[in-house]
Amino acid sequence: MSLVMPEPDLTTLARRAEIVAALRAIVPGEGVIDDPDELVPYESDGLTAYRQPPLLAVLPGTTAEVSAILAWCHANQVRVVPRGSGTSLSGGALPLADAVLLGLGKFNKILDINYVDRIAVVQPGVTNLADTRAVEDAGFYYAPDPSSQIACSIGGNVAENSGGVHCLKYGLTTNNVLGCEFVMMDGEVVRIGGTQLDPAGLDLLGVVVGSEGLLGVVTEVTVRILPKPETARALLIGFSTVEGAGQCVADTIAAGIIPAGMEMMDRPAIHAAEAFVNVGYPLDVDALLIVELDGVGAECDHLLGEIERIALANGAVSVRMSVDEAERVAFWAGRKAAFPAVGRISPDYYCMDGTIPRRRLREVLERIRALSDLYGLGVANVFHAGDGNLHPLILYDANVPGELNRAEAFGSDILRLCVEVGGVLTGEHGVGVEKRDLMPEMFTDADLKQQQRLKCAFDPKSLLNPGKVFPQLHRCAELGRMHVHAGRVTHPDLPRF
Ligand SMILES: Cc1cc2nc3c(=O)[nH]c(=O)nc-3n(C[C@H](O)[C@H](O)[C@H](O)COP(=O)(O)OP(=O)(O)OC[C@H]3O[C@@H](n4cnc5c(N)ncnc54)[C@H](O)[C@@H]3O)c2cc1C
Repeated sequence: MSLVMPEPDLTTLARRAEIVAALRAIVPGEGVIDDPDELVPYESDGLTAYRQPPLLAVLPGTTAEVSAILAWCHANQVRVVPRGSGTSLSGGALPLADAVLLGLGKFNKILDINYVDRIAVVQPGVTNLADTRAVEDAGFYYAPDPSSQIACSIGGNVAENSGGVHCLKYGLTTNNVLGCEFVMMDGEVVRIGGTQLDPAGLDLLGVVVGSEGLLGVVTEVTVRILPKPETARALLIGFSTVEGAGQCVADTIAAGIIPAGMEMMDRPAIHAAEAFVNVGYPLDVDALLIVELDGVGAECDHLLGEIERIALANGAVSVRMSVDEAERVAFWAGRKAAFPAVGRISPDYYCMDGTIPRRRLREVLERIRALSDLYGLGVANVFHAGDGNLHPLILYDANVPGELNRAEAFGSDILRLCVEVGGVLTGEHGVGVEKRDLMPEMFTDADLKQQQRLKCAFDPKSLLNPGKVFPQLHRCAELGRMHVHAGRVTHPDLPRF
């Protein structure tokens, strides 16, 4: 494993018993876990290649407890790693040997639902799917739908700015969250955003969403809920070439049609998914598109016809339209289960997450195939084709010496390729530890320092989730230093703090 994490602080390790006692005074009973066996479930997240048991785990149940824990850790210079459901694929919730793991699992209540304002106020440990379940009887749903939605928490979704197959039309988490309660590292509790799309003041919510547990701990979230569309229908379109499928995606969007979802799978992913869910995916094609339209029935029918026409013009060899809701759900079942399906054909897989301009799709897939040959490791591609978000799944066996290192190198080359063609390092899984060391591929040193100054404004002691996102952790004092030459400061007219 090539990943290097910050050196554990030996003084903190030596103070473990004192830290356990102090946190037990805040969260009594079973709220503090220090038994090594009981800490094993926390040693990894969805990026299972990396493991590290935490110093201890604490499971608060109220905002006051979170505040008191953070305030104590702040005063005593102890690092903290927040954790929701632990499904992060970028190692965002990977523990540190000298850090307290702060689990938000007890924050599992839906606090308020207001159908008139179309909002729900939920605790961060509520799962993504539970949010929709809570409002679906009234005809509403929560739009962002990561494939991990049965397990991942809303707090984790906020921290990672998670997406899903329906984000092409409805946006990512950032477009569906209106406000949150947020506990700063020094224990201060603040409210960010509100209950409307455009609250007054600076857009701090835009900073908090996607902040990967580096700025503070989310203890309550206000989300938008949307009325369920009148109709939702899906098309399953098979192509004999990836090129044809990619062009169909580009032509559909160029025609002004924004489907609710537009997903692509390549041959290895189609075969793995079909073997897992048996929903009748065509097995004699090289690429499969699942395209969903939702809205008013007549409009959907018209647009589905348009997409079918575009698909046939691009060489589609099979087109199947869902006949009822059960079949529509079945079409998605294979896509949503694609990751575990691939887990059945390979001992281990490493899921990448980069974004590219749609028009470079064919070229990028060809180069990923060439890299696959170069590294001698298989790859299955599943992606949000509509927004160019790729998820190459690199197949490897962790028990074969050197294969994890080869998978990591292969993954890094894929992400470099995404940046090279004008894309970005991540689409929805976050940077975490996985893409941390690749950040300089995309950002200059000045860009990274500027981002870290923002982190310093929230967490000047760098105690929250260290070792994630930033390839090099500068001391905040160093980043904020001001050059004063011969007693002369620049712009002496400006007031200084
Ligand atoms: C099979 C599978 C499929 C997936 N599919 C998708 C997908 O389609 N789309 C997608 O976007 N992601 C997907 N993911 C990735 C993952 O589910 C998301 O990133 C999810 O949002 C993580 O939520 P979590 O509750 O598990 O967070 P965790 O893994 O526990 O934590 C993730 C990050 O959030 C921080 N964090 C968690 N809770 C809080 C909080 N309350 N306050 C502050 N910081 C917090 C942590 O410190 C960490 O940095 C998938 C994962 C798996 C395993």
